[in-house]
Amino acid sequence: MQRTKIVLKSGKDQSPRRFHPWIFSGAIKKIYGDPVEGDLVDVYDNKDEFLAVGHYQPGSIAVRILSFKNVCPDIDFFRDRIKSAIEYRKSIGLTSNDQTNVLRLVHAEGDDMPGLIIDYYNGVAVMQMHSVGMYRLRKEFAQILKELLGDKLKAVFDKSEGTIPFMSGITAANEFLYGKSDPVVVSENGFKFKIDWTTGQKTGFFIDQRENRRLLGDYSEGKSVLNMFGYTGGFSVYAMKNASLVHTVDSSASAIDMADENIKLNFGDDSRHKSIKTDAFEFLNDIKDRYDLIILDPPAFAKHNNVLANALQGYKRLNIKAIEQIRPGGIIFTFSCSQVVTRENFRKSVFAAAANTGRRVRILHQMSQPPDHPVNIYHPESEYLKGLVIYVE
Ligand code: SAH
Repeated sequence: MQRTKIVLKSGKDQSPRRFHPWIFSGAIKKIYGDPVEGDLVDVYDNKDEFLAVGHYQPGSIAVRILSFKNVCPDIDFFRDRIKSAIEYRKSIGLTSNDQTNVLRLVHAEGDDMPGLIIDYYNGVAVMQMHSVGMYRLRKEFAQILKELLGDKLKAVFDKSEGTIPFMSGITAANEFLYGKSDPVVVSENGFKFKIDWTTGQKTGFFIDQRENRRLLGDYSEGKSVLNMFGYTGGFSVYAMKNASLVHTVDSSASAIDMADENIKLNFGDDSRHKSIKTDAFEFLNDIKDRYDLIILDPPAFAKHNNVLANALQGYKRLNIKAIEQIRPGGIIFTFSCSQVVTRENFRKSVFAAAANTGRRVRILHQMSQPPDHPVNIYHPESEYLKGLVIYVE
């Protein structure tokens, strides 16, 4: 099929020449034809030189690039890409690991597949498509996963209902594309978690905090731990290994239920743990000297650049409350998962928070996302998770 040709304005070829995978609508000089959302389009510079092929989307990001070579992104193309994503994870020991059977198999731009997320939960692949171009291929992706994973795959669930751009008019239904499965129990670094992709946030679990949770376990011995924005209790479970007390706070009742269930799965009825359903900002008003270790892992405060300033204020306010009130000698694990907040901006927010309290603060670790959430070097935005471990004297 003839692909629609899109020509960029003079000078706007610099970004794709440096392999950045997004073409913004403002860079486009002319569209030759009338592409529909999700169609393959070819991108040319204004001297008629081919630059890239990708999925078209009306809106700010107009093209999500699949290749900078003049190839045909057909099923073989995607099979190769998914195969390479899986092989890379195999080569770093993530796919056959008796301690961990939950991982991200495909990380969108990080694996050169913009718009496609595939997470693996002990036999069940959960896909989440963020573009119509990828959504149209969902059945093919399920087939490819079957071929590549063989008996390691029991079911494929598509959870794109909330992630397909609503302007597209497509009503995606969350459904199994292959097999069926009830919620499963996975292992992460030897700890057990029940995963319910149908009701949970994202694909069901925040896999991206795996290494940071492990680090937390190294610091929690004998401590009073407060896990803010605890969701399914990921950090809490690790802390329960050796802490004297763990409190999980979340505003969502279902999250709190899941957190309780996960604590029980690993530790039975253990009175060291308590979960509290309340607003984080309110809870943090009154915790003076009650905790030695606090985790702050809020949802993304900024989804778009135009609310960046507010988001940075939000991180500052949150961190002030924790730094002010933690016990002397306390440790805070503080995170931002907003794509538009850079590492530098986040650090400045925490710096401003520390300065506001006047306490002595040292940075012990600078954290990021684990290797199954790789950062595309040409796409700095794919480094979305940043964190600091700080020591408050
Ligand atoms: N740390 C978790 C992931 C956190 S996701 C993990 O490792 O799995 C963010 C969580 O913040 C969600 O569960 C959401 O319900 C909760 N949340 C959002 N706004 C909140 C608020 N104002 N107060 C308390 N919890 C909130």
